[in-house]
Amino acid sequence: MKKSPLVLRQRRQHRKARHTAQRQAQRRAQRRTAAAAEPSRGQAVLYELCKTIHHFFPDLLERRRQVEDCRQKSDYTLVELLLAAIMLFVFQQGSRNALNNKRAEKKFKTHYERLFKLRLPHLDTVHRVLCRLPDTELEPLKHSLVKTLLEKKVLHKYRLFGRWFVVAVDATGVMSFSEPHCEHCLHRTSTTGKTTYQHQVLEAKLITASGLAISLATEWIANPAGEYDKQDCERKALVRLAAQLKQQYPRLPICLTADGLYPYQGFFDLCRQYGWAFILTFQDGNLPTVWEEVQGLLPLTPAQRRHERRYHGATATDQTFRWLNHLDYGGHTLAWLEGVEVVTPQKKGRPPHSRFVHLTNLTVTAITVVELSRTGRFRWKIENEGFNTQKHLGYGLEHK
Ligand SMILES: [Zn+2]
Repeated sequence: MKKSPLVLRQRRQHRKARHTAQRQAQRRAQRRTAAAAEPSRGQAVLYELCKTIHHFFPDLLERRRQVEDCRQKSDYTLVELLLAAIMLFVFQQGSRNALNNKRAEKKFKTHYERLFKLRLPHLDTVHRVLCRLPDTELEPLKHSLVKTLLEKKVLHKYRLFGRWFVVAVDATGVMSFSEPHCEHCLHRTSTTGKTTYQHQVLEAKLITASGLAISLATEWIANPAGEYDKQDCERKALVRLAAQLKQQYPRLPICLTADGLYPYQGFFDLCRQYGWAFILTFQDGNLPTVWEEVQGLLPLTPAQRRHERRYHGATATDQTFRWLNHLDYGGHTLAWLEGVEVVTPQKKGRPPHSRFVHLTNLTVTAITVVELSRTGRFRWKIENEGFNTQKHLGYGLEHK
């Protein structure tokens, strides 16, 4: 019997609906498997972290066990306390309270303990122990971790001209008070007569073009106990920091980068003594004899110029470099280099051009000038990647 067109149409519709439903179910299943295989961002970060730790520092926890146990009485091992302190920063919780709240979540605690095979202590306990732990106990740990990276040549590809490890030196305030806090406080009285008390550190950080900033040495800028003539300052602390750096990394070829505070005789002497290179920010008029020589020589050396143009989408960046070698300053041979950058079309609110001037003890040529200028400029990374990250991007270096 011939089926009516109505029945045929209904059958066709049913078949179509069945196929659609099957396809949808298939897709749902595919998505489910993909989701199960693809971890969340947090899981991926943790996985990479564990992988990195195991690859580079397989004995990390063992090394921490070597840190002398200075606790008086605590249920937790020092390794557990130190790991919690590190994870407070790795998880970017922003405060000890925030991690304590996470700790109260059963799921978080279970995962943490399963992952690290260590318990997660209350962060106030961690704080108490760290306050008592002398920094001389932790410094060797930091040193041994960096040494591992250097021995495994992980950072070698970032060297300047295949030779120099770039180390940025910079000071930052870590605590500030309106009342005297201790006898080592630095104090400053403003023009309004208000005195503030603060603590600063001077840090030497190995920096890379990829954005890493790895702390090599730290020196407190702090006044001595009792009477003193002049307060401690960044330049005095630099002498101590440099000695520390040289003692810990005697054969490391270091190129120091630092801001406009550092072009002075003592700094040049120090670098010569230790065999280090340097690239310093140079402000016009600073070191008057050098500045005068630069102004006199520039019109005579028009050939020492290089121009570069790079495109990034619709924006063009023009960079013009100029340089001078063999400038004498107190028995040191310095080189001066300038980079002027113009971005077209000009971005709203930006100056028409930016200018970067540096002093170095390396020889500047048409080939090296771009790299030298770039290295001098990425010193700001120590502020952005280092201190800024520690203080603001969830690490909360300054608060509880
Ligand atoms: Zn103090």
